Amino acid sequence: MSSFKGHCHCGNTEWEAKLEKEQQGHILCHCDTCKTLSGGTFTLNQIIPKDALNVTKGGDNLGKYTYYGESGGFPVFFSFQGIIGKGVHCYFCKNCTSHVYHHQEVMGPDKIVLRTGLLDEGIKNFKPAAEIFGKAKLPWEKEVAETFETLPPS
Ligand SMILES: [Zn+2]
Ligand SMILES: [Zn+2]
Repeated sequence: MSSFKGHCHCGNTEWEAKLEKEQQGHILCHCDTCKTLSGGTFTLNQIIPKDALNVTKGGDNLGKYTYYGESGGFPVFFSFQGIIGKGVHCYFCKNCTSHVYHHQEVMGPDKIVLRTGLLDEGIKNFKPAAEIFGKAKLPWEKEVAETFETLPPS
């Protein structure tokens, strides 16, 4: 287990995440929600225990955006049906809007989705570990890791 530092664009928010060896990679999410929230074609993520994230600066001042969707936007290792009607809460720096982490109700209270692309080491050195919501991937994007139509089988 190693510690990784992250920060938002403006510097008001800083955090540290503890990741196991097998979590030190990016899960690419190609879902349509990720496209809209990020302005890019996919997001870089990892599911970690809530306790593994420590917001060291600006944690009291994070904005929160909640949406309810069919896909939930990120891997939840449950049946697709179970996702409907459950909220996804996105926590972001209120000043610059960088997304620090997301919490999906369907995953229970103790798991969060961390944006691995906002970790200093993550964006430099992590490799793609898997691709999810491959069905929504744009046709000109190459496959860079094992790709799932939606979520990996639970
Ligand atoms: Zn910021
Ligand atoms: Zn997504």
